[in-house]
Amino acid sequence: ATPVSIMVGTGRAAEQGVLFRKGESLQTLRNAKVIALDKTGTLTEGKPKLTDLELTNGFDREQLLALVAAVEQESEHPIAQAIVAAADDEGIRIPLAESFQSTTGMGVAATVQGQTVSVGADRFLSELGIDVAPFTERAKELGQEGKTPLYVAIDGQLAGLIAVADTIREGTPEAIRAFHAAGLKVAMITGDNHRTAAAIAHQLDIDKVVAEVLPAGKVAAVEKLRQEFGNLAFVGDGINDAPALAEADTGIAVGSGTDVAIESADVVLMRGDLRGVVTALTLSHKTIRNIK
Ligand code: ADP
Ligand code: MG
Repeated sequence: ATPVSIMVGTGRAAEQGVLFRKGESLQTLRNAKVIALDKTGTLTEGKPKLTDLELTNGFDREQLLALVAAVEQESEHPIAQAIVAAADDEGIRIPLAESFQSTTGMGVAATVQGQTVSVGADRFLSELGIDVAPFTERAKELGQEGKTPLYVAIDGQLAGLIAVADTIREGTPEAIRAFHAAGLKVAMITGDNHRTAAAIAHQLDIDKVVAEVLPAGKVAAVEKLRQEFGNLAFVGDGINDAPALAEADTGIAVGSGTDVAIESADVVLMRGDLRGVVTALTLSHKTIRNIK
């Protein structure tokens, strides 16, 4: 493309809330064969809500929620915000937590009122030597509903199962239909568990899922998808997404995301929703056509 046609293309894109940080991205994006999407905060709103809470014998809801909220108050994960908000809504006084520890992509733990409280994925509690079997059936059902199950242990005993669920962003289904109509494959990369990820992927007609990816594994996931499908555009929003945005042939940051993500991206969507990716793709094709 000529410099002038690229200027026209990036100018038109900007009018529609799509910022191309480098003109050449307009040409790279045109060659994309697969759109890989981060789940939380990109496909979804990233504002989960607590939906379910199950208890083992000897624990009551208010007590468990107070202990778990105490731990989560120290965490910045969207899951943590969902749990703290639920405790607040129920008028529960949240105690203070000490010795907070976060294991990225796995879960969190702390001491609350002299008790050790751990919350996270099944693999997190299993690693702590806690038997999660009493809740695996229920967790499976919750996952099939697209909810994220979180196991709770108190002093090394399985105490509860909590589920949170996130809302699909407006514009996500429409954008995915447009990617397919353009002959592209659509993939999802997430730290969430396989079953929940598969349920959401099925609902959205996503072709390929890479789940239970630790933040450090997102780059490897991008590489793997590129090997399978070819030229790849990755869309993400979080700090964790920055390396994957840099690794992708085209990195697209959703504008409501973090500064680090925006700085690592080639394209920035000023409006959060994924229809901006469709706009970017359409313009990348038009710009090239104009100069022929
Ligand atoms: P994603 O951004 O796709 O949700 P993460 O790597 O942030 O992926 O999280 C992966 C999993 O780690 C979550 O689904 C959850 O099981 C567990 N986890 C992470 N942070 C927390 C937290 N603060 N409380 C409970 N579980 C957590
Ligand atoms: Mg995200």
